[in-house]
Amino acid sequence: MIPLSGPDIGEREKELVLEVLQSGHLGLGPKAVEFERMMAAYAGTKYAISCNSGTSGLHMLVRAMGISDGDEVITTPFSFVASSNCVLFERAKPVFVDIDEATYNMDVSQIEAKITERTKAILPVHVFGQPANMTEIRRIADKYNLRIIEDSCEAIGAKWKGKSAGSLGDAGVFAFYPNKQLTTGEGGIVVTDDEELANLCFSLRNQGRGENGLWLDHVRLGYNYRMDELSAALGVAQMERVDEILSRRAKVADLYFEKLREVPGIILPQSVADADVSWFVYVIRFAEHLNRDEIMVSLSKEGIGCRPYFTPIHLQPFYKEQFGFQEGDFPVTEHVAKGTLAIPFFTNMTEAQVDGVVEALKRHVL
Ligand SMILES: *Cc1c(COP(=O)(O)O)cnc(C)c1O
Repeated sequence: MIPLSGPDIGEREKELVLEVLQSGHLGLGPKAVEFERMMAAYAGTKYAISCNSGTSGLHMLVRAMGISDGDEVITTPFSFVASSNCVLFERAKPVFVDIDEATYNMDVSQIEAKITERTKAILPVHVFGQPANMTEIRRIADKYNLRIIEDSCEAIGAKWKGKSAGSLGDAGVFAFYPNKQLTTGEGGIVVTDDEELANLCFSLRNQGRGENGLWLDHVRLGYNYRMDELSAALGVAQMERVDEILSRRAKVADLYFEKLREVPGIILPQSVADADVSWFVYVIRFAEHLNRDEIMVSLSKEGIGCRPYFTPIHLQPFYKEQFGFQEGDFPVTEHVAKGTLAIPFFTNMTEAQVDGVVEALKRHVL
């Protein structure tokens, strides 16, 4: 059995979580503040606002930017559903652009044609840890006076032209679900240089409490999106060795590249020169003559974890129902999504496990 993913939890994680348990301070507290400091320093931003999921981080930014009823946000259909749902939470509309077939990120050449009077923001997703073309997205946003929310939930440590994912837009979000590069159990964090956005997020995550106000003063409609101290302790322990975690993952990716390079019918991940990838998942794509779904079922039967990343957002049942999207609306996304498969990938994956996956794949494609 080789799982699709799994968290890397060591002694330090257990030590810090136990410390929190013994402190008796389990709600919003000092560990979250420490985690925020580490994360702001790492991303190179002035502020970091911890929260209880990546989805809540994205939602707070949509709210904090005043995006609401009927406003439009330009984004990608090739992503996890939360990157669009966060726009729907405020009754605004996600406007999709198709993707680039090599990087699977938004095709930036199609953005300008989608801008209308209602467009308020661009929401790029650094899919699978591969940074989107932020130079071009920034140029377009500046030209049309749009805001940028970077969904960096899969991209902690990724860089575009040497600058951290999450620090290139108006604000970015990282996520820490157990299958991500780093985990806090459930958790997320917003990073930004914008003081106003930061203050709004601090308030929104904490039931709309005012900046220096009292615990029972609520100055706006807010949420309970706080990160608990147990999660923050995990986050601190993971951040202490973030470089080691990311470089181990890069080594596993290198092993796959080396061993799968010569296998016909398998298309490997591709990136551009300006991008430093942070490895979230390792997603291969089968050439058209191979049946991804059949191979997936066989691999699963052999105990090899795999999943079709992603089903396009516009083809999710409730998006079709609500917006009338159909097959053919975003042809590149749909073509890519039919062939992609995430294969086992995690920080402590051994070469023997990589070999097991590679041998199984070869049996099915050769
Ligand atoms: C994981 C993820 C999120 C947020 O996930 P949560 O489970 O809410 O932490 C958002 N966008 C993308 C692209 C993701 O992969």
